[in-house]
Formats: sequence, C-alpha cells, structure tokens
Amino acid sequence: MSNTVVNAADEIKTLMNLVWFRNDLRTLDNTSLQQACSNDAGVVAVYCFDPRHFKMGPFGFKKTERFRAQFLIETIQELREDLRKLNITLLVYLEKPEDVIPKLAAKHKVSQIYYQKEWTAEEVEVQQNVKQACETSATFTANYDQFLIHPEDLPYDSYEAIPNVFTQWRKTCEKALHIRKCVEPQQQPKTNLIDEPTEIPSLSDLELEEFKIDNRTAFPFKGGAQQASQRIQQYFWESKKLQVYKKTRNGLVGTDYSSKLSAWLANGSISARIIYWEIKKFEREEVKNDSTYWLFFELMWRDFFKYISLKYGDSIFKIGGILNKDYDWHSNKAAQKEWISGTTKYDFVNANMKEIAATGWMSNRGRQNVASFWAKELQQDWRVGAAYFESMLIDYDVHSNYGNWMYNSGVGNDPRDRKFNIQSQAERYDSSGKYQRLWLEPSLFD
Ligand code: FAD
Repeated sequence: MSNTVVNAADEIKTLMNLVWFRNDLRTLDNTSLQQACSNDAGVVAVYCFDPRHFKMGPFGFKKTERFRAQFLIETIQELREDLRKLNITLLVYLEKPEDVIPKLAAKHKVSQIYYQKEWTAEEVEVQQNVKQACETSATFTANYDQFLIHPEDLPYDSYEAIPNVFTQWRKTCEKALHIRKCVEPQQQPKTNLIDEPTEIPSLSDLELEEFKIDNRTAFPFKGGAQQASQRIQQYFWESKKLQVYKKTRNGLVGTDYSSKLSAWLANGSISARIIYWEIKKFEREEVKNDSTYWLFFELMWRDFFKYISLKYGDSIFKIGGILNKDYDWHSNKAAQKEWISGTTKYDFVNANMKEIAATGWMSNRGRQNVASFWAKELQQDWRVGAAYFESMLIDYDVHSNYGNWMYNSGVGNDPRDRKFNIQSQAERYDSSGKYQRLWLEPSLFD
C-alpha cells in the first residue's frame, strides 16, 4: 500500500508544465507563467525563433528586418535571465514551434502547455499544428494576455457588438472600466532547473545583416523586460515627462516626446496593465492631469485595434479592409522605390522614410503622414505600405499596424476618412525644419 503512494507521488513530481512564450516575453504579469508556476509540477519554458518570421513576405519584404530581430534577441536574453532567477530554464530554438514543442512534451513528460492565445491566421495555424503534433495527452491552456481590458471584462456581449468608431467604444469601456491587477509567478525550487543548453541565435543565424545604431535615432533602447521598466522609471519618475506627454506627443526628434513603450508592448516584454497601474501610481504620488490620462487613452487605441481585429478576423489583411471598399488601387514600382528611399516630392515624407530605413523607428505623426501620402495621395495598394512597415518597425504589432494602415487608407475605422495635407503638416509639426534637416542633411550630424 505505502509503495503505491510513494510511486504515485514520484509520478506527480516528474510531471512538467511547459510555458510556450510567444508575444508575452516577460515574467512579471504573465498569466501563463503564473499559472504554470502555481501547482506541484515542474516548469520548463520554450521560445522558438520561427524561421518563417524571417522569410520574404508576399510583397517582397522580409517579414522581420534587422531592427526588430535585434530587439527580439535582446528581449530573449533578458527573459532567459529573468526566468533563471525563478529557477526556470528557457530553451531557445531556431525552429518551428510545431517541430520543437511535441518533442519537448514527450521528453519532459509535459502534462500542461500554457501559452498566449493569438487569433490572426498565421498564429492560429501554428497553434493548431502544435496541438496536432503533440502525441502526448498534454492539456493546452491559452490566455488572452495582450490586452489592457481583458476580453471577459469588456462591456459587450460579443465581438460583433463592438462599434467601429473608437470614441463610442472608448466611452462605453470607460464607464465600466475594469483593469485586472498584475500577477506574479512563484519561484520554483533550484532542482527545477534543467541542464539542457540551447543557444539564442545571432542576426547572422537569422540571415540578417549586423548594423550600427544610427546616432540620430529617436529609439536608442534595447529589448527586454528590465529595459522596459528602466524606461518607465526614466520617463515617469526621473524626467517626469509623463506629466507633459499630451503636449509633446506629436514630436519628431529625440527620445522623450512620447513614451516609446510600443516596442516592449509589441513583443510583450511589458504588459499594458503594468503601464496602467504605474500611471495610477504616478497620479497618486506626483500629478494627475490630461497628460497622464492621455497615455491611458493611447493604450485604449491599442486595445481597440486588437478588438477590431478580433471582430473582423482576416479582413484586416484584405485590400478592401474591414469596410470591404472597392477603390482603384495602383501598384507602381517607381512610386514604391521613391517612397521607400525617401525621394518623393515632399521633404517631410522623405525625412520620415529615411528615418525608418536607418533606425526601424518613426513617430506617430510621421507614420500617419507617410501612410496617408502613400494610400490617399498616390493611391498605391495600402498593403504594400503595411508590409514595408511590418518588415522595418521595431515596434511592429499586427493589430496596431494593420488597424492604423486601414484607418489612414480609408478602409478602416476613420469615420471622417481624412487625407493629410503634407505641406501644412510639415509646417505645423516641423516649423523650424529641424527634423527634416536631421534626416535629409546627414553630413550636419556626423
Ligand atoms: P505613445 O504616444 O507614448 O503611446 C503610448 C502607447 O499607446 C504606444 O506605445 C502604443 O502601444 C499605444 N498607441 C499610441 N498610438 C497608437 C495608435 N495610433 N494605435 C495603436 N496604439 C497606439 N504602433 C505599434 O505599436 N505597432 C505598429 O506596428 C504600429 N504601426 C502603425 C502604423 C501606422 C501607419 C500608424 C499611423 C501608426 C502605427 N502605430 C503602431 C501606432 C503608433 O504610431 C505607435 O504606437 C506609436 O508611435 C509608438 O510610440 P510610443 O510608444 O512613444 O507611443
């Protein structure tokens, strides 16, 4: 009798939980990790640099260029350190998740697999592939962990009921606002660590070029959860720039005109909830004003585009967008070359396009202008512009990118379908010409 009990206990100890990291590359406020750490089983973590993310896309751009790839490498380095402090091993592969996870599951007797749920077509396919390839009886637990407002706390009965106009959605949400508290994972015993060395790939392993950081960049930051919290420390608490955010947010030059939190948010090395609760703390301890509200307001935009993408599914990638518009789009290679190389008739567009090419970064003001110019003035297929941004941006996020591109191209959520007057935008936001000189006369800054 006692033997049976001992055997059963041993059996339980050998069971493992696996955390499959995707765009939730943090240990703090990570629901999947917290769940995996909260029972008696051991915990192992895995991240796959999926080779498909570094291949050529349908419009002739690599899906991920060097800027975001470098940021991701740095993020994984920090994630591995942070997990190690919890006595959890992060295994890293340059292979497809469906090729890696089933083998790991079998080898480590994995009983539960935890991951962040995604809903865009390519990500769903990977989820299905992984599940199908796992021959063990592992249970899968998926969490929506990328939102500020959790889908279950949204004041709508279904995604179909979500309005297409941001202001309507925001006001309804604000009336019933519920933001969840952040969760923390439990540290595991030292014996949980696994001696199974794996390597984080380099840029050249990903078939990307090494590069030097351009000294004019507005985004000189590195990837990783620790870097994200340092940025918050600096932007909120040291320089206290948060308290003037609403006045500076349309800026173009330097590190501090806006929070620059997008890149960490995009790969999940910080959660929107962590930022929200830090804003609340700042409001209690420093000042509560229209700027502190506005950072929350912008995080609501981020959520809105995620909910629009949940509502419309793959329509966000279609030429007619979520409105199914039938515009006469052009596909002019010469125009594409001029736009990308920054040799159009507008210096303001050119400066922005040179900035993204050299750094992987562009301000929100710049993004709106170059997108409007591409889609509305030149009437070029907006998906080409979106695919170029997808390739280049450090902070690429599928929902924010395609949502904003549709918005600026007249096939999305802009109820007024506005077209930017580039000249007057340049005069308003770069009246001294400082920004345009920075990118168009580089010799001045060598
Ligand atoms: P802040 O001004 O400090 O805002 C704080 C946070 O709010 C941002 O980090 C971001 O998460 C969110 N946010 C702000 N503006 C928007 C917005 N318009 N839509 C959604 N979320 C917003 N943002 C991305 O994160 N990834 C993208 O791939 C992306 N592509 C874009 C493409 C186009 C054509 C346009 C016009 C905008 C795009 N944006 C994208 C939105 C926006 O430009 C960036 O989020 C912002 O510039 C990032 O800088 P920040 O972190 O300093 O923003």
